Amino acid sequence: MKYLFWLLIILLAIWAFKRSRAGNATPSQNPPTAGPTEMVTCAHCGIHLPVEEAVSGQKGAYCSTEHRTSAHDRNAG
Ligand SMILES: [Zn+2]
Repeated sequence: MKYLFWLLIILLAIWAFKRSRAGNATPSQNPPTAGPTEMVTCAHCGIHLPVEEAVSGQKGAYCSTEHRTSAHDRNAG
């Protein structure tokens, strides 16, 4: 019974230690500038732009919906 008591104390201490570390750590899941940005080329005018700003078509990616329309393409999917 005595060992069980100490085991419980130790487990509580480990749990509290992990919890305090997790609380102090600043979450950086979405760093604003870290990580390489994947670039794509507009299939109509050839400009390079980040993939999240690109407009996707069935033939490729475009810089804008106007260029997708000019290339006689439509939304993929
Ligand atoms: Zn374009």
